[in-house]
Amino acid sequence: MSNRIVGIDLGTTHSLIATLDSGFPYVIASESGERLTPSVVYFSPSGSTPLVGAAAVRAGSTDPERTVYSIKRFMGRRLDEIPEQEKLVSYPITGNPGSPAKVLIDGREWSPEEISAEILKKLKSDAEAALGETVERAVITTPAYFNDAQRSATKRAGELAGFTVERIINEPTAAALAYGVNQSGSRSKIAVYDLGGGTFDCSILELNDGIFQTLSTAGNTRLGGDDIDENLTQWLSQKIQEDSGWNPSSEPVTLSRIREQARSAKVQLSDKESIVIRFPFLKPDYSFEITISRERLEELAQSVIQDTRSHCLKALSDAGLKPTDLDQVLLVGGQTRMPLVRKLVHQWFECSDFEEVSGGIRIGEDYHTAEGPQLNTSQNPDQAIALGAAVQAGILSGAFDHITLLDITPLSLGIETFGGLMNVIIPRNTTIPTKAGEMFTTAVDQQKNMLIHVLQGERERARDNWTLGKFEIDFSPAPRGLARVGVQFEIDANGILHALARDTHTGNEKIVEIRSAVDVDDEKVQQMVEESVEHAFDDWNSRRWVEAKMKAEETIAATQLGMKEYRADLEEDYAESLESALNRTIEIIANEDPQTESGDLSALKDAIANLDEVSKPLAEHMMDQAMEAMLASQEMINSGSGE
Ligand code: ADP
Ligand code: MG
Repeated sequence: MSNRIVGIDLGTTHSLIATLDSGFPYVIASESGERLTPSVVYFSPSGSTPLVGAAAVRAGSTDPERTVYSIKRFMGRRLDEIPEQEKLVSYPITGNPGSPAKVLIDGREWSPEEISAEILKKLKSDAEAALGETVERAVITTPAYFNDAQRSATKRAGELAGFTVERIINEPTAAALAYGVNQSGSRSKIAVYDLGGGTFDCSILELNDGIFQTLSTAGNTRLGGDDIDENLTQWLSQKIQEDSGWNPSSEPVTLSRIREQARSAKVQLSDKESIVIRFPFLKPDYSFEITISRERLEELAQSVIQDTRSHCLKALSDAGLKPTDLDQVLLVGGQTRMPLVRKLVHQWFECSDFEEVSGGIRIGEDYHTAEGPQLNTSQNPDQAIALGAAVQAGILSGAFDHITLLDITPLSLGIETFGGLMNVIIPRNTTIPTKAGEMFTTAVDQQKNMLIHVLQGERERARDNWTLGKFEIDFSPAPRGLARVGVQFEIDANGILHALARDTHTGNEKIVEIRSAVDVDDEKVQQMVEESVEHAFDDWNSRRWVEAKMKAEETIAATQLGMKEYRADLEEDYAESLESALNRTIEIIANEDPQTESGDLSALKDAIANLDEVSKPLAEHMMDQAMEAMLASQEMINSGSGE
């Protein structure tokens, strides 16, 4: 068996397979000469093996309910996690709300992994035919924003297709590898702007002495060229309706014809100023044609492209950089061929001029004389990711040993602690592989076990983050605060999380590997980041409130305990002032807004300070009593054990 490892870009719209020849990466063409395999699977009614790629597009054009496209959007996601608008595909999506989304074909449920595996099988057999050898090992890419469950699902798809998946790597990192492979030993900072069919990513990378490091990443897992197609499809449908009085959107077959035309018009308008779109015989007695200009398309595409901007700014600010700190901006993804995309990216990143670097990353002193970064479009934007995956595969098989690859965590990982707060163990944008841990104590006396609630996200409260998993660790009961549990998170090179909890007294431990799609909860990744920014202020207030509340509850409990035991010893006036201080604190807590889990923080702080102050004599009295009791027992022991 050959030790060749192939690189695969499993894209939403297109998938590619690449390998190295004498150290140079290239994309392997299918038998029919295609390098881009449409990520489309067609299930024929005869029930024979599904068709994949261009054949599926052809066969499926009149049979949209059996034609599965954009399956990547469903990978590793539960049905109830997927927004309604995303489920509006031409094929039926099924499943229980709490379990993974499936595709229903002739009564048989297909998981997104199984469908992706069909695409991967086709790439595998095309590569084997072209290379004349069996291909078994692969590096597969995923968007930087993919979470644990989505990466694991991608890995499973590879395994179902018969690959040993050597590594899952981030698409922007792969793209940068493709651009930078010949320039090791250099130092530069790069932004990768990747606008594909279904996902958008902007990542900031640093290349330093042959080491790639991802400084930050931001994006949206449901933003891309598909959205532009959709806007154009709607516009065309509206024009047809205006012309004929008949609404073509009500017929799936017609609609998919319009969408197909819209897609092809959009691509042509990257090179041409205007084109004519023809729809012969939309109905037996009706044909339609319309001229569309690049300008019109740009109007329809504006909002989609503008949506990418905030992510670029976020990635820059997370990396602590200004656009002019960058050396290069790399364009990746088929949609970046559109002139408007290039123009806007050029503006946003304050690129020095419209000179495009050819022949890879330019380095050296001369390079830094320019004001802003240069827009590098030297790589074929459709192929860069697959080529980079092949480079990574070459690194793994030892073909280049001068480049190391570092990836990062797109979202923070942590566990829930007292008061329902998120305790971050591995912060967002940490380089992986990584390992980190922390010690936790018990909240309750004689607690027999602790629930480890593993969370992913950027919010301050546990409930606003995603649940990746839950497990319990048992320990020998001890007074509150004494049992100590060590929690360690380790993320391996594939981005898969191993969570470990250990009772430090008994050594009893539990490890959970988090890779199942079912374990992921709630919202979408990019929403998480957006929401964390949006709610930063409220979250922070809520966190401070919860912390103050926990402190208050402790003081209240201690004071109430003292009152119960020593009320009789206290002067009436003093007891009353103590009760009123207690009640004031309790009342402020009772007025908490349960929705936002926050309240009047400054009043609570004043009340706690006041309660602390007022309860001092009681606390001293309790101390004295305890001391006397201790001395008394000491004396008893001493006298009892007298010589
Ligand atoms: P993905 O990574 O999602 O598979 P790709 O990188 O293959 O996506 O990009 C696919 C998107 O690029 C599609 O929306 C396609 O219409 C668009 N696209 C491809 N070529 C061009 C072009 N010449 N001009 C404009 N858009 C294009
Ligand atoms: Mg892509």
